[in-house]
Amino acid sequence: MTMPIIGCIADDFTGATDVASMLVSAGMRTLQTIGVPSTALDDDVDAVVVALKSRTLPADDAVTQSLEALAWLQAQGCEQFYFKYCSTFDSTPAGNIGPVTDALMAALDTDFTVACPALPANQRSVYNGYLFAGSVPLNESGMQDHPLTPMTDANLVRVLGAQTRQRVDLIDYATLSEGIEAVEARIQALRSAGVGIAICDAIDTQHLHTLARACRDLPLVTAGSGLALGLPANLANRLPAAGQADALPVITGRKAILSGSCSRATLAQLEHAREHYPSYHLDALALARDYDGVIAKALHLAEQHLDSGPVLLYASASPEDVRKAQDILGVAEAGALVERAMAEIAHSLVEVHGVRRLIVAGGETSGAVVNALDVQGLRIGPSIDPGVPWTTTFGTPTSLALTLKSGNFGAQDFMTKAWGLLP
Ligand code: ADP
Repeated sequence: MTMPIIGCIADDFTGATDVASMLVSAGMRTLQTIGVPSTALDDDVDAVVVALKSRTLPADDAVTQSLEALAWLQAQGCEQFYFKYCSTFDSTPAGNIGPVTDALMAALDTDFTVACPALPANQRSVYNGYLFAGSVPLNESGMQDHPLTPMTDANLVRVLGAQTRQRVDLIDYATLSEGIEAVEARIQALRSAGVGIAICDAIDTQHLHTLARACRDLPLVTAGSGLALGLPANLANRLPAAGQADALPVITGRKAILSGSCSRATLAQLEHAREHYPSYHLDALALARDYDGVIAKALHLAEQHLDSGPVLLYASASPEDVRKAQDILGVAEAGALVERAMAEIAHSLVEVHGVRRLIVAGGETSGAVVNALDVQGLRIGPSIDPGVPWTTTFGTPTSLALTLKSGNFGAQDFMTKAWGLLP
């Protein structure tokens, strides 16, 4: 088995997917876990991303979870560690970027790391230590009003300095423009001066590549997803041939589509999919009246058709119908009822009806389904549409092909073309 080289700890789920996709596109076979798995890896991968939900936890809890993730990644054989946070550096004076970085540095017994949230391709750049979102500084970007992590200062040396025990300084864009050796010399100088963390400028993608090269011997880097682009260049002869990183194992078995998303893009995709596949609509009010009966009918229809191709089971409804259900059942209650039904159906489809390839539409719906199937991790495969890859599951009794599509992602033919992208 190939042991992973890079071990990433991400402070939220979508951020984890972001950095995982980045690593795959840069040539690394990558697995994203949901929390810290209870089992060991059993697959060839080059990178693993542990998705935590630690961004806005109390700092002590974020530290505990991050250290658990680190220990698990170390046990899987990872050599370099990457603490991934948001490209807008979402945090407060209490944390959690500073406290988690301090704890990871101590656990890895290292005196130096970098901090670089920049992703210039996505309009996040750092210039002389100031973070810009597009053309405006962070504290004018709307982030100053964020409900949980208001960012009222764009100067990251100051922002991080308030959260960490380390001395914080800067590696500026001029040094990054000079090249790898200049950055290495700057790191050496900062280290000698007792600086523990360097905020790193990046106003174009080349700066990230240069920084990644200069960080090749650091046990820990901390960054947004952008730095991931440059890391594989440090490992070139240890990675699979170009174009192989998104290869997934072949998974055979019955196919189904589950949707609890009522987003406009999903509704258009369902209209298209209904022309191609047998379908059953689970009405929210009908579920409230006769939950078991509705689920039995949906599964009965599925069993009749699953041998001839994908079957579509959906609760998704027009805004008027959703409102009607919410007026009668309550907003949270209607959502929870439908999520429970989707989770139960997913479980039966897999356990009883032999479904092994599954499209799930809806962010919350996906969370419910992943829980019900006890998925511990996802190996990231080829993208069906931007931001929506096929994955195969880790931790389930048999591996499943799964794609989790959040509401507004994907073109209209998403649900029909997806099958053609599976190996
Ligand atoms: P998206 O990614 O499109 O936002 P989510 O799954 O995150 O989709 O959210 C959709 C929410 O709507 C879920 O909580 C789901 O259970 C709920 N829902 C789905 N269908 C209905 C319906 N017919 N009536 C009321 N709520 C529904």
